[in-house]
Amino acid sequence: MTDRDPDCLFCRIVADEIPSDRVYSDDEVIAFRDINPRAPTHLLVIPRRHIPDAQSLTDADAAILAKLFAVMRSLAEDEGLGTGYRVVTNVGPDAGQSVPHLHFHLLGGRTMTWPPG
Ligand code: 5GP
Ligand code: ZN
Repeated sequence: MTDRDPDCLFCRIVADEIPSDRVYSDDEVIAFRDINPRAPTHLLVIPRRHIPDAQSLTDADAAILAKLFAVMRSLAEDEGLGTGYRVVTNVGPDAGQSVPHLHFHLLGGRTMTWPPG
């Protein structure tokens, strides 16, 4: 798999070709605010490397997954989400995945309903 897909919106955000409201960045992971927030805190946490979705993950991705969740824990603390938050990753058309680059939605700042629609 290539590290970057030139047609991918989030690869272009990683490359700063499209601006975003970034809240975290390191050599493997970035996080930025969703352009259409569904909660007071709505962040997208993504690997810099192009991985299409959760279904494409392999055992070789264990370290990046651990890293993504570590970043989310830290961001949840930064955003003051001590009373709870939700992590969502949509996979494929039935789940409404609209950007085919692995991303975790980190949602919080309000009470969440269950189940999601
Ligand atoms: P999905 O529907 O694939 O689970 O999530 C994609 C998310 O990306 C949506 O919540 C959508 O609002 C967000 N999004 C789409 N385009 C942009 C953009 O250009 N910038 C930012 N910050 N978010 C975007
Ligand atoms: Zn991509």
